[in-house]
Amino acid sequence: MEIEQRQNQFWKTKSLKEMTKAEWESLCDNCGRCCLHSVQDGKTGKIKLLAVACRYLDISTCRCLVYKDRFSYERDCEALSPDRINRIKKLPYSCAYRSLVEGRKLGSWHPLVSGDPNKVHEAGISVKDKVVSGVHVNPDDLEYFHF
Ligand code: SF4
Ligand code: SF4
Repeated sequence: MEIEQRQNQFWKTKSLKEMTKAEWESLCDNCGRCCLHSVQDGKTGKIKLLAVACRYLDISTCRCLVYKDRFSYERDCEALSPDRINRIKKLPYSCAYRSLVEGRKLGSWHPLVSGDPNKVHEAGISVKDKVVSGVHVNPDDLEYFHF
């Protein structure tokens, strides 16, 4: 399926709304960045990602441990949909969904482009080896964990 999707290059021809569920899911490069805790700057309103991941993110693979039922496990987990991409402030510049909505290409590390799911880690895009799991951090101390 993945090879077929790569060959189709659907992300170049379809809008986010036209994609099948499998195509939509394959757009995620599993960087794990949207699964980080964040704080909002009181003055600018900008969101700053912290170096602490949601307790359900496996920080060695950057994959969600409870993906199928994630919304019942984590109330702060945000559902992505074509209409909501612009409103989810945590999505980093590198995010594939954000890139397409903003008219940019997928990065060379993206699994659909490179054919290699490890490239997102090798290219330093993912949070692998850069963050700690929320399991080990007291919620009151989150703001001390900067990149
Ligand atoms: S930031 Fe985007 S590409 Fe990265 S894990 Fe989240 S949804 Fe997937
Ligand atoms: S529950 Fe949501 S925020 Fe937490 S790791 Fe899974 S997808 Fe990411």
